[in-house]
Amino acid sequence: MFRLRRNVNCDHNATTPVSRSVRLAMAKALTGFQANPSTPYREGRQAAFIVDRARRDLAAALNVAPETIIFTSGATEANNHVRSIAATLPPGRRHIIYNPMEHPAMLEPLRMLERDGFGLTAARPDHLGRIGVSELDRLWRPEVALVVMMAANNETGTFYDVRGLSAAARARGALFFSDMVQALGKIPLDLAGLGVDYATFSAHKISGPKGTGALYVRKGAPFAPLVVGGGQEGGRRAGTESLHNLAGFAAAVKEIPSPARTSGLRRLKEAFVEGLLELHPGTQLNSPPGRESQPGTVSVTLPGFDNAFLLGQLDYHGISVAAGSACRTGANEPSHVLLAMGLSAEQARSTLRLSFGPDFSKKDLRYLLDVFRIVLAGQESRAIDVILPGSVTEDFIFRKDLTIVHVKRFPGLKGPRPLPGSRVIALGDKPAWEGVNPPGPVFLTCEVGYDAPIMAWSLRRRGLRDLSVLALGLWGLKLGRPDLWRRLDGQGRGTPEDDSNEP
Ligand code: PLP
Repeated sequence: MFRLRRNVNCDHNATTPVSRSVRLAMAKALTGFQANPSTPYREGRQAAFIVDRARRDLAAALNVAPETIIFTSGATEANNHVRSIAATLPPGRRHIIYNPMEHPAMLEPLRMLERDGFGLTAARPDHLGRIGVSELDRLWRPEVALVVMMAANNETGTFYDVRGLSAAARARGALFFSDMVQALGKIPLDLAGLGVDYATFSAHKISGPKGTGALYVRKGAPFAPLVVGGGQEGGRRAGTESLHNLAGFAAAVKEIPSPARTSGLRRLKEAFVEGLLELHPGTQLNSPPGRESQPGTVSVTLPGFDNAFLLGQLDYHGISVAAGSACRTGANEPSHVLLAMGLSAEQARSTLRLSFGPDFSKKDLRYLLDVFRIVLAGQESRAIDVILPGSVTEDFIFRKDLTIVHVKRFPGLKGPRPLPGSRVIALGDKPAWEGVNPPGPVFLTCEVGYDAPIMAWSLRRRGLRDLSVLALGLWGLKLGRPDLWRRLDGQGRGTPEDDSNEP
């Protein structure tokens, strides 16, 4: 029997809902503390006290001294310090071993270092994303001065043996930098005991506010600032402190659940996996079992299903999940994480990541499995036509009765030129979407193939029936059908600034 529609958030690794106590702490900081924490008078000193308390709270949760914590605008900025830190390495030892499954917030700074002449060696994960100490032994060379290895992967939930890996690095005189964004709140983090030199954190992954994070620098570890200007954070990170965000970060840190409270979540995740395997025995699991992965995260490959369409259909039923593919601005690239684990591009495009939070209940689980039963049976998916770039024709595009809608997530940013005659609507512009009600068919396009199916399913929920979407988006069409793209270009009516990003 199918249950009433619910909203189930299965995407906690993207971000977490801001908790009530965090909201209250932030509101209090915003209303009660207006001064700049660097100013000497009473209000300024009170503001400085908020920053100081946040630092002490985070330091206590990590079992380190407060002065080892530097607040940043988020984990992306904290990870970017790998560049300024690497610049302090001795000239003969400018080689870095890293985990190729790192978040782009770490990979991109590493690529910049490579362009600057640093040597990089990627470790080789196994099929569940694990990298052991023996892999470091295999890759070791005398020039290595830095090892970059996350504590938990955001797509698969895989935990890494930070203690063992950092000890192996230290034994050879190398430094150890760990992105711990996805580990904070999931496992106890005693940084002193783990032996890392640098670690990074993000408030919004633990029910805190977005736009705030921290960098831990072990006392005595080499350091050079990345953001220079005023003398904030002891001269290590310039910029007026984001007081309300830090108040929220501190409140979130205080609510970090004890490891015992995550075992119920792990049981629910395991029950989901069991249920999914029953529904679809061909399902492939990409997350390690038991305590080797985050309690609420699982990555599943459903061969034969396109994750963009699964995502749209699940969204139609009120379920938020993530695809195993990174939506980059250039093209619909399969996830670098899954490729590094040995999955093919096709398998990566059939992969979903589900990350449950502490509020995930047995009722949510039953609903989730009911929806998967419907979606995987495939009857519903025929309700929306999927048009592959290879099947797009000019006759179709110029049909008189066809309404073409181009979905943009961020209309203020550049993207590919929409098809001639397209109506461009922002994904979040509800009134504009409510105006889409033509008598004839609607064809939806987007940049890389994720946003159009989502909108198609929500138009269907509003009662529209004759709907089709362009698979792989306009970048897919441009790459797959350059002939058609060139012919259409001459007839395009898109705005010129919409025409610039090259895939
Ligand atoms: N590192 C990991 C592992 C992440 O999952 C994320 C966010 O998704 C980041 C870094 C970036 O964090 P922030 O959003 O605070 O910049």
